[in-house]
Amino acid sequence: MQHCDTLIVPRWCVPVEPAVKVLEGHAVAITDGRVAAVLPLEQAKTRFQPSVLVERPDHVLIPGLINAHTHAAMTLFRGLADDMPLEAWLHEGIWPAERRWVSAEMVRDGTELAIAEMIRGGITCFSDQYFYPEIVAEAAVDLSMRAVVATPVVDFRTGWANNAAEYLQKAADLVHDPYADHPLVTTAFAPHSTFALSDESFGELRVLADQLDVRVQIHLHETAAEVEISLRDTGKRPYERLLDAGLVNRSLLAVHAVHMDDEEIARFAEAGVSVAHCPNSNLKLASGIAPIAKYRRAGLTVAIGTDGAASNNMLDMFSEMRTAALLAKATANDASAVTADEALHMATLGGAMALGLESSIGSIETGKWADLACVNLRTLNSQPIYDVVSQLVYASRCDQVADVWIAGRRHLENGQFVHIDSDGLLARGNEWRDRMSETGEVQ
Ligand SMILES: [Zn+2]
Repeated sequence: MQHCDTLIVPRWCVPVEPAVKVLEGHAVAITDGRVAAVLPLEQAKTRFQPSVLVERPDHVLIPGLINAHTHAAMTLFRGLADDMPLEAWLHEGIWPAERRWVSAEMVRDGTELAIAEMIRGGITCFSDQYFYPEIVAEAAVDLSMRAVVATPVVDFRTGWANNAAEYLQKAADLVHDPYADHPLVTTAFAPHSTFALSDESFGELRVLADQLDVRVQIHLHETAAEVEISLRDTGKRPYERLLDAGLVNRSLLAVHAVHMDDEEIARFAEAGVSVAHCPNSNLKLASGIAPIAKYRRAGLTVAIGTDGAASNNMLDMFSEMRTAALLAKATANDASAVTADEALHMATLGGAMALGLESSIGSIETGKWADLACVNLRTLNSQPIYDVVSQLVYASRCDQVADVWIAGRRHLENGQFVHIDSDGLLARGNEWRDRMSETGEVQ
């Protein structure tokens, strides 16, 4: 008999790779934080002697969900500036609040709140872009959460840096120790958008990204206005500016990519660019609807993100999967445009591929990190169960997540946090609300 740390015996298992197919009567063994085997229960009983046995007779085990785009600390701005179009939302709502409130302390508290919310909903990895990324990385490590921490780069001064050169210097610093080969944290560059950086800054960023071999993520073609203003001011669409800067390549994650023409989609596919689709954020800010069915037909890798809590306002990947599938069907005028299987793929392995992490996360396969979520289907809204993946994507809520592991470490057990102090986080969230309200920032 072989020892393993944990043996999980769910009713169903959807490993996503090699295929989004449902296994029954299977077990998943975890050793040293990684998946040691996915095998029939009878074989598991004779092969493994587990330290911890977790039996879940009404549950489906899936790879942990991957939130491919967020601004975690913005949980503290949730509900601060609602019902405004993107430009006004940024210029009148969010940016003034950020100038006033963003600090290391705010980022720490907001990020911890976000991490707890995400873990509660089965998310085991988030890709973040926000100020004080060194604090985001620390929070992720302290709470044992997996994160892609992308350093923001803009041309203007904020509380965190003064100009593009300083942002880039800080971005380079973060890539080095202690995150060079960290088991939980990966670093990246996040130029905010083409309207926030000059061509010169993009040029410098590209050189540094190539030198350090880091991936780049950027808000791109999020609104029609963004594209029009770029054309007016520079004579180029935002995409063309990135192309000219040499940034349209395999390392690029285009966040939103709502307004793309067919030629741009073809060029993206050819270059191997990935897209982070944030359907609820796009709906809430009336940005438009990304043509996801076209992207998939063109062969683009599509991931799903929640975006920040100020523009969603939930960090709930079950809601995103459902909305992504439904929107794709409606816009393609084809009910099979994005299936439940495809939506689950985008929220797991698609996310891993878009972040360059597909060899280590995104599916339940031997050797990958044991980033797992167990979802309880013994709920009224999940009955009866004809198709497990359909129930997951179209009928499940994130509070049905019962158990979560990240790199084999248990975070959630029967819906309860194992080591996160959620009462403490609630109290800190309220303190921030009081603080922001007192000075009249929140009406
Ligand atoms: Zn965003």
